[in-house]
Amino acid sequence: MNLATTNERNVKTSVSQEMHAKRRASIPGGVNSNIRLVAFPTPLTFDRAEGSHIWDVDGNEYIDYAMGMGPHILGHTPRPVIDAVRKSLEKGQLFAGQTEAEGDLAELLTSEIPWIEKVRFGLSGTEMDLLAVRLARAATGREKIIRFVGHYHGWLDPLFIPGSATESTPLELSPGQSKVLSQDLVLCAWNDLEALSRALTANDQQVAAVIMEPIMCNTGLIEPLPGFLRQVKTLCDHHGVVLIMDEVITGFRMGFKGEQERNGVYGDLTVYAKAIASGFPFAALGGRADLMDLIGGVGVNHSGTYNTGMVQTVAALATVRHLRESNPYDVIFDMGQKLRDGINALSKSRSVDLVCEGPGPMVQLRFGGDPSPFDARSFSERSNSARLSNLITELEANGVRLTSRGLMFLSVAHTDVDIAKTIQAFEKALDATS
Ligand code: PMP
Repeated sequence: MNLATTNERNVKTSVSQEMHAKRRASIPGGVNSNIRLVAFPTPLTFDRAEGSHIWDVDGNEYIDYAMGMGPHILGHTPRPVIDAVRKSLEKGQLFAGQTEAEGDLAELLTSEIPWIEKVRFGLSGTEMDLLAVRLARAATGREKIIRFVGHYHGWLDPLFIPGSATESTPLELSPGQSKVLSQDLVLCAWNDLEALSRALTANDQQVAAVIMEPIMCNTGLIEPLPGFLRQVKTLCDHHGVVLIMDEVITGFRMGFKGEQERNGVYGDLTVYAKAIASGFPFAALGGRADLMDLIGGVGVNHSGTYNTGMVQTVAALATVRHLRESNPYDVIFDMGQKLRDGINALSKSRSVDLVCEGPGPMVQLRFGGDPSPFDARSFSERSNSARLSNLITELEANGVRLTSRGLMFLSVAHTDVDIAKTIQAFEKALDATS
């Protein structure tokens, strides 16, 4: 970002900056999720959001493509969800018992999604991923878990690896992580079937589960190579391993039934979060009844004081019902394509190696040109992250807000006008950074 823009930006975000400085005295880093540490010139403080737009405390307006890091498939403050939540607020928050809404939601999911025979609800993707792993261990009597470099399955020890980790052993951990809790992780490169096959053979009869995002969304936006998912499933079946599909980002975003609906390969267990509840803390683990029933008795534990609290459950039910009735997927896929086409045409006209990748209502920016990456390593080799950060910063100064790693989420609230304004902001940002 050039000096003039930096100075102007500092003035325009002065209230945000003051609040952030104050917060830092009482909150480590001034934020409550470490991903939010990465922001320039300072992590912004937001006041309100509506539809595809968000306002910071200085009154600056942005077209938002962070969308809560994915949950806002219906846009910010979607009426059908907010109205349902508002109505429920007077009835109570938490009953240490069941509500009609959770039964209705479970029935809706199990009747609509064939690979969800039974389902349990919790609060976050992290904990439902861990529950899936626990079920896989209980069902197989094995301990090891295979996961892919560049994928993300929450921040807690048994599945977390730092961004710098590679497939090589010993596994690199972040400070404070338990070596014991991580010792059963086996890492493979995404899209490398040979590596997976070798790992399964080398750890024969020891692997409880393979866990993966059906599209790698947490390091670039990288789709599986043709046939990869099916071959993973075949290998899992052959080795008696539970396949866990982590659809925390793709679920209810790539289609009502998530990415598995598009690719036709189904996990034994599936985790949904984010878009299932429009930004309220809600997540689901569903799958084969024989696996799920392991938590239906006294054997395998799954608990939580706040599970199926009224607000988040009503929000999830309203979101899922609305998505099923309105079926917005053609529209948001089109919107994603318009954005990709617009940015790619702009890059081409200026001979800039900025590429816009990704399927459907998700868009990933990358400086690095062709060919497209196929795993975490090729993504980092083919990406100039410093240039991307500059561009993102400049875009923010021009009223367009992205996630800090250049991933953009579309919603039903984004309009053609938003896309046109976004392309204009890209023009200015490219001018300022090239
Ligand atoms: N899995 C995936 C694929 C994710 O992207 C995330 C969060 N970005 C998680 C799990 C963890 O979900 P949560 O933040 O709700 O714990």
